[in-house]
Amino acid sequence: MEWLVSMPKVEVHAHLNGSIRDSTLLELAKALGEKGVIDFSEVEHVVLKNDRSLAEVFKLFDLIHILTTDHMTVTRITKEVIEDFASENVVYLELRTTPKRNDSIGMTKRSYMEAVVKGLKADSSVDVVFTPYAEDARSLVNSLPTNDGYNGKTRKKIYVRLLLSIDRRETTAAAMETVMLALEMRHLGVVGIDLSGNPLVGEWATYVPALKFARDLGLHITLHCGEVPNRPEVQAMLDFLPQRIGHAIFFEEEDWRKLKSSKIPVEICLTSNIRTLSVPSLDVHHFADLYNAKHPLVLCTDDSGVFSTSVSNEYKIATSTFGLGKREIFELAKSAAEFIFADDGVKEDLRKIFDSAVKNLG
Ligand code: 5GP
Repeated sequence: MEWLVSMPKVEVHAHLNGSIRDSTLLELAKALGEKGVIDFSEVEHVVLKNDRSLAEVFKLFDLIHILTTDHMTVTRITKEVIEDFASENVVYLELRTTPKRNDSIGMTKRSYMEAVVKGLKADSSVDVVFTPYAEDARSLVNSLPTNDGYNGKTRKKIYVRLLLSIDRRETTAAAMETVMLALEMRHLGVVGIDLSGNPLVGEWATYVPALKFARDLGLHITLHCGEVPNRPEVQAMLDFLPQRIGHAIFFEEEDWRKLKSSKIPVEICLTSNIRTLSVPSLDVHHFADLYNAKHPLVLCTDDSGVFSTSVSNEYKIATSTFGLGKREIFELAKSAAEFIFADDGVKEDLRKIFDSAVKNLG
């Protein structure tokens, strides 16, 4: 596992509120319990529980949002989540989050996102590079650790880009509001739009106008696709040709053919798929088929807090389940840099980081 932790890694499918440390969630729950807003004893076991169905996961998110949706907490969790990924040598993180409105505390989607950006700028134990490449003089590669590679002896540096999520509960107008906000925040590292939320809720047609608008104006699109059986939606999503999709579980033969010929990269979340019982066991996971077909893939955590995992752990699972060797795992991690939504300057830096790290493979 140690070499997997020290290997540089790219994470492109991480939901902010799904990536919170258990200790932070419990601390927040305790504070709200003391104020009488929630019953801490009930919340504690929900937070610490490991196996949940997909439906239970969405119930948990409703609870997490009660704990986290105030500006200060949003800033705090953003900072902590980035530090946690950087600590295991994630060198590029695309962090996604759903901009939220909470009238009772004067929170708008914009002020929520400003709180996230404040978390990126916060005084942190790591160097966070989040503005578009040309505007940022401090490229990661210019300050690469020299001798000891990524083994924890130097201050960590991490590129972070943001994706704004549209929740499937939202209306077309609300989705459009999120896209407008994303467009206005491009200079603050926003690079794209994600469609997520409970896959049993909402209709694809509701989000299409906002997604098309976003794409026409140059934002990248990734869609949660095929998390539950819904053939017409899977087909419509693949026809939309997003730049990436997440999960890709409930596909029929024809969908696999279409996916493979389209070469749309897939964000694979092994632990998440098993924990939510979406895939019965790792040995039948579609990772193997896509990997053997040389389909573009990125291993991701989805919700490292909710599913108690890490990027290194996802690579470890791929090693042990699918028999991938060190070199193959390294190539898989390196290839992820080709599917990021950040500009080519960042891609170029990431290639150099991986080229420099290859000598530490042994
Ligand atoms: P947030 O956007 O609040 O930072 O992160 C939590 C949200 O991400 C959840 O409320 C949900 O909308 C979305 N999310 C997290 N994990 C999953 C997942 O596995 N599938 C889907 N469809 N959405 C998810």
